[in-house]
Amino acid sequence: MANSIAKGLLLSAALMLLAACNDANTRPQIDIEGKTMGTFYSVKVSGTLTESKQQLQQEIDALLEQANDDISTYRPDSVLSRFNQNTTAEPQPIPRGMADIILTAQRIGRDTGGAMDITVGPLVNLWGFGPDKRAVKVPSQQQIDAARQHIGLQHLKLLSDSRGEWLQKDLPEMYVDLSTLGEGYGVDQLVRLMARKGITNYLVSVGGAVSSRGVNGQNKPWRVAIQKPTDRENAVQALVDLQGYGISTAGSYRNYFEQDGQRYSHVIDPVTGRPITHKLVSVTVIAPTALEADGWDTGLMVLGTEKALKLAEEKGLAVYLISKTDDGFSAVMTPQFKAFLVQ
Ligand code: ADP
Ligand code: MG
Repeated sequence: MANSIAKGLLLSAALMLLAACNDANTRPQIDIEGKTMGTFYSVKVSGTLTESKQQLQQEIDALLEQANDDISTYRPDSVLSRFNQNTTAEPQPIPRGMADIILTAQRIGRDTGGAMDITVGPLVNLWGFGPDKRAVKVPSQQQIDAARQHIGLQHLKLLSDSRGEWLQKDLPEMYVDLSTLGEGYGVDQLVRLMARKGITNYLVSVGGAVSSRGVNGQNKPWRVAIQKPTDRENAVQALVDLQGYGISTAGSYRNYFEQDGQRYSHVIDPVTGRPITHKLVSVTVIAPTALEADGWDTGLMVLGTEKALKLAEEKGLAVYLISKTDDGFSAVMTPQFKAFLVQ
């Protein structure tokens, strides 16, 4: 979930949706757009709808509204915000979808050696990238050490019984931040809505997360473009056909603040307690779900080019990395990613 609309505008450019074409349409195509999670969503459907476009848009908005009510730290009364405000160790009821996010986050957290850590909230807030939007400046080592006392995935427990799912913490000051997974989760929710409606030709996106299946209005497979990390719009680095998979891009160069000529990214390395500073500028992951892709892109971004590539190869992940070099950018991808490329 992005911090601001401005960021959303930038983010939505990272993965471009190539649906437009000059050919005459051979199937009807419906395009719906709106705002959610501080960014933009887009739903494109080809074929005939069994309901009006307005009806479908209402259902989409209601679904994304519900996701925000569950997991947004920008809403003081969301389920997640109430969990964060509660300082007791009592298990608290959470919706099924939120339990799915936390389960995935715990797994990717373990697999990345803690690089992806949804309990990193106190550090995110300390560095000024949380919802309080305080003036940003570099915190002291003492403040960083204090914030780290309230962090650690091992302090968060997911419980399940016949009544439902529960979340429990054993650190009263713990602050769970699902912002980096919100877009992927939102996309998966939209994919499920499509499935419930029997829609098999669609392209859905929320911010930097996308999923697509089938063909567009020109009867051609939907194509998603990975943008070059430049200011030039429409500079395409690679084109993929997702075939029902999810894709997500994390870009360290898009949301940051500057002090004394140094850039501070909103992605925090939980090990150092500081924003990442390495040369990896963009991580794109393709996975069976957009949630999975969105979790991995953050974790790999924290790890940096070498460790990220090594882990991606070990785990057999479809990953595309762009790193800054002295004279420009260099890109590298795993064989699993190559399988999705179209040329
Ligand atoms: P990007 O698309 O630039 O990767 P996201 O909005 O998806 O950005 O994720 C960045 C947000 O994730 C931060 O604003 C913060 O709330 C949260 N975050 C920062 N560092 C981590 C981390 N190591 N693990 C999990 N979440 C993080
Ligand atoms: Mg992410």
